[in-house]
Formats: sequence, structure tokens, C-alpha cells
Amino acid sequence: MADKSALPELERYAETLLPTEYGRFRTLVYREAGSEFEHLAIVSGEIRDQHEVLVRVHSACLTGEVLHSLKCDCREQLALAMERIDAAGTGVVIYLQQEGRGIGLGNKIRAYAKQEQGLDTVDANRAIGFEDDLRHYGVATAILADLGVRSVQLMTNNPAKVEALRTDGVLVTRRVGHVVAPHELNVDYLLTKRARMGHLYDSANGGNGGLDSPPSERAQAERAQAERLQAERLQPADAE
Ligand SMILES: [Zn+2]
Repeated sequence: MADKSALPELERYAETLLPTEYGRFRTLVYREAGSEFEHLAIVSGEIRDQHEVLVRVHSACLTGEVLHSLKCDCREQLALAMERIDAAGTGVVIYLQQEGRGIGLGNKIRAYAKQEQGLDTVDANRAIGFEDDLRHYGVATAILADLGVRSVQLMTNNPAKVEALRTDGVLVTRRVGHVVAPHELNVDYLLTKRARMGHLYDSANGGNGGLDSPPSERAQAERAQAERLQAERLQPADAE
């Protein structure tokens, strides 16, 4: 693992077995020193000293997860991650309190207001004065170290997240594609993440979605659906 001194200081504050729609998970709350943030580790099975543990590093999304906003795919991605670690029998979802790619809830809503004027998700963040992605994954690294996870199969479509964790010192042996089906209202958002943030939507769920695996039929079908929905839209995604 990484130089521990560079990681945020966390306190493992509480722990319980939580029954959910997706199964029973050992749920741990970590408090981050010097902040009000409480982060979660949602654990299935025995992961201490295990290699190639299935891991999702997930950022909180109140609008998606609580309000069922259709502007993003966060709720579906969280549900899929919990289903997958329950099915695998071992794994962990690390749930980070960093709303709106790190800009906070109020600023995310301000960015959404910019999107109403036609900006995409990247330009909207820039318009209100934020970088594209302020998330940092030091907390996730510290939680994985506390849980004793030796190496990780990371469920994500975002290669930058793999790189960020590796830079922090997490041994990520494989990226597992984490694709949920797009729908009409979030298709622009997903296409923007692909075009402007380097996200990959070419790996099947549950398949061998490694970095070099070829596009699956399902992923190709989902991409075709996304592109068809995009083409059918009356308004262009960018205002420029
Ligand atoms: Zn979201």
C-alpha cells in the first residue's frame, strides 16, 4: 500500500450487519479526521488478506440515489455493485461522501442549472468555476488498507479512477466494466463522460471486462442504443 502519511486519517467509527434488497452486508462507517464526512464500506464475505477482491469505489449522489434523478446513472451503478458483490460472495463497495464529482450538492445543482442552458456536464462545472473532477480517492485507499484488502478488481468504466487508485498505491489487477443501460434522459451525460472524460463502455457486466477485452455484444448494443437516442434528440448537447 501507499505511503500512509499521505493518506487521510480515518477512524473506524461503527459497524453492523445490514439487511438490504441486495443481500446482507457488513456495513462500516469511517470518519475522516478534520472533516464532517462519514464514508461507508459495504462488505460481503471475508476480504481481509484476500487478493483480487471485487471493489466498487462509489461517490455519493443524493439526486440520483435518493431522488431517483434520471440525469445520471449513479443509483443503477450502486445497485449493480451491491448485486455483484453479493453474488460473488465477497467484495466491498466503498461509498464516498463526495457529491457531484467533489463539488458538493449545492454546486452540483448550480451546474445542473447551467446544463438547462445547454452546457454539458464538463462545461457546466467549468462555468461555475470548478475543475472537471475534484474527486480524490485517498479515503478509498485508506479504507482498503484498513480492511486488509491485498489487491483489487475494480468495477468501473473510468480508467482515470484505476490510475488514481494505483497512484495512491492500491494494487488494481483488473478493471471490470460496470455498464448500466442508458435511458433517454441520461444518454447525453453518459456520452459526455465517454467523449470528454475517457470513460469506457465496452466491457460486459460480469464478463471478462479487462482493460484489453473486446467490446461485448451487450455493450455494443447499449452503445448503439445510446447513439440512437442521442441522434433522436431535438436539441444538440452543446450550446456552442
Ligand atoms: Zn449521480
